[in-house]
Amino acid sequence: MDHGTDIAIVGAGPSGSYAAWKLAVNGLQPLVLEEHPAPGYPEHCTGHIPVSLLEDLYPKPPPWLIQNRFRGMILHLPDKIELRIPFGNLNTCLIDRALFDEWLAGEAIRMGAAYSFSSRVEDASFKGGFIKVKVRDKKSNKDYILRTKMLIDGEGSPPRLLKKIGFTDASAIRFVDAVQGWFADVKDIERDFIEVYLTSTYAYPFYAWIAPIGGDSAKVGLAAAGEPFRKLMKFTGEDSRISYRFRDAYRSRLTGHRIPLGPPIFKS
Ligand SMILES: Cc1cc2nc3c(=O)[nH]c(=O)nc-3n(C[C@H](O)[C@H](O)[C@H](O)COP(=O)(O)OP(=O)(O)OC[C@H]3O[C@@H](n4cnc5c(N)ncnc54)[C@H](O)[C@@H]3O)c2cc1C
Repeated sequence: MDHGTDIAIVGAGPSGSYAAWKLAVNGLQPLVLEEHPAPGYPEHCTGHIPVSLLEDLYPKPPPWLIQNRFRGMILHLPDKIELRIPFGNLNTCLIDRALFDEWLAGEAIRMGAAYSFSSRVEDASFKGGFIKVKVRDKKSNKDYILRTKMLIDGEGSPPRLLKKIGFTDASAIRFVDAVQGWFADVKDIERDFIEVYLTSTYAYPFYAWIAPIGGDSAKVGLAAAGEPFRKLMKFTGEDSRISYRFRDAYRSRLTGHRIPLGPPIFKS
């Protein structure tokens, strides 16, 4: 059976749900297709953003999405050099990304957008003036065809669909593998400073981070070219600068995803 909609959006991340909200506010009825059973999960993002980004955003995010605010960064360089960089007026904050995605999807639904969860977009092609979207219903494990006039890609990283439908530039994007753990009982946390470690041993060509959530808890992660899980374990367990801080620490969750380094995809 063929299904139809005027506008289909791939992905219920911030890009997909913001597009859905914007279209719905303007009287359209987009359909968001999300491969997971709910928005925001699995949560892989640290959620460190400028406060001004939240303040400028409309719909206005509720304050309970904010987990922490930072007034500066401690930048750890090789040879135990430590720079404390105050942010001045450019304060940043930490949001709960899973809750943010849930909240934004809720706002889009409130405005009239529809969501179909456990729906993975497998492919798309032009046919007879329509875009034919092949969707896998993950609950029944069956495929169906959705006909739409417009398809918006908010699939995030890596852009598998873009590549599949022929945006050749998508193949040129370089990635690093990122991983993040939620840790408690971490020593020497300064709640209002986010920490960044430049370490070619564990996080080349990216960096590692400790983002305090509150008390002695933090989101701790790194991105590297290969084996990020093993490198995070070694970084927290063996690095002479920080291993003492994690000796009694407890890790509740561990997630991983890819971060694009560029170049940008140009119109083609
Ligand atoms: C470990 C880590 C830490 C990060 N920390 C930060 C940070 O502190 N600050 C910051 O600004 N950025 C951070 N980022 C980057 C940030 O997470 C991304 O820029 C952001 O999530 C992109 O949003 P998006 O909506 O484009 O994609 P995503 O958030 O990736 O959302 C894409 C959605 O599409 C769905 N999807 C994908 N393919 C399909 C398909 N074929 N069919 C149906 N659904 C599909 C996915 O399930 C997902 O829900 C981090 C990334 C990682 C990996």
